[in-house]
Amino acid sequence: MKVYLSRPDITDTEIGAVTQVLRSPNLSLGPELGAFEQDFCQHLGTQRAIAVSSGTAALLLCLKAMNIGPGDEVITTPFTFISSVTSIITAGAKPVLVDIDPVSLNLDPAGIENHITDQTKAILPVEVFGNPAHMDTYRHCADQHGLLMIEDSCEALGSTLNGRAAGTFGDMATFAFYPNKQITTGEGGMIVTNSDIWADLCVSLRNQGRGSNGAWLAHERLGYNFRLSDINCVLGRVQLSRLEEFKVQRQRVARSYQERLMQDRRLIVPQAAKNVDMSWFVFVVRLQDNYPQEHRDQLIAYLHDQGIQASNYFTPVHLQPFMVEALGHRPGDFPTTESVSARTLALPFYNRLSEADIDLVCHTLKQGLDQLGI
Ligand SMILES: *Cc1c(COP(=O)(O)O)cnc(C)c1O
Repeated sequence: MKVYLSRPDITDTEIGAVTQVLRSPNLSLGPELGAFEQDFCQHLGTQRAIAVSSGTAALLLCLKAMNIGPGDEVITTPFTFISSVTSIITAGAKPVLVDIDPVSLNLDPAGIENHITDQTKAILPVEVFGNPAHMDTYRHCADQHGLLMIEDSCEALGSTLNGRAAGTFGDMATFAFYPNKQITTGEGGMIVTNSDIWADLCVSLRNQGRGSNGAWLAHERLGYNFRLSDINCVLGRVQLSRLEEFKVQRQRVARSYQERLMQDRRLIVPQAAKNVDMSWFVFVVRLQDNYPQEHRDQLIAYLHDQGIQASNYFTPVHLQPFMVEALGHRPGDFPTTESVSARTLALPFYNRLSEADIDLVCHTLKQGLDQLGI
């Protein structure tokens, strides 16, 4: 491969900080855990932050803390990473999927109301590809109907809508730190909320249901081991301190792609709305509506042959084989999701992607479109 889809941005500062923790006696539940959570609260302005082992664990703990389970329904989107939906199933509740808005690619606000039933407990919207569009509308809708809102901000650390940060619209919100996210801890996640009750429950649930008195072998409730080690936490602290720098770089790469690809009539190129300050997660272009999935797949294969990594993004959740079985959905149930999903193409995207590499990707992409007769 000449150009990869994603690369983490790790400097000697991260390596030095991790090394220091490794030389300390506290590899887990040490001082870096609380410090990382404190840094996160300060960054977002939320009362509480709870670090956990993954974004998926974060979503599950939100549902558990809110006591959402068997007999409850949660409204979410089929156009997302799988765990937005599997976490609801793991909690024992029923995901109720609603199709997306074709422009923002987020849950269509207009589709929510007629899916609300007596069983509906929460709305779980996702900031797809980092885009916080409609978060204020979902918030309003949840308030109107007496529902909770869990904001899956796992792709949106650093984004704002009308100046308000992603992760501050929900009653609880989650972030994720896998290496392709805006910041990484290797693996990791974070829950944020202003509720002490839910936050304290999350602290207990991530640590085997232990109580607040700290007794190691006293377990007050059914819990999990979703702890994040101090090695991961210190890495997260350094990365979080560089978030603004990352955001500038990612905005540069997005702008460069936009400048080179916007004129191509075969492509739909993503753009942030005026009221959005976008912390780009990935850069996903798509073929116009009239092209079949086959063309997109051929284009990905062509780019691979030329040494450029590209990917489809996402496969609709409701069409994953085990989901078809679990939820009984079939092709055609969510036409916008299916149509968008068949034509997406994620391009190489990371902080240090050079202008020369962006040139190469765009040049090769256009060559592929020409040669394939698209
Ligand atoms: C990355 C991501 C998650 C969580 O992923 P983990 O790999 O468990 O950290 C959840 N939801 C969305 C939308 C994501 O992109």
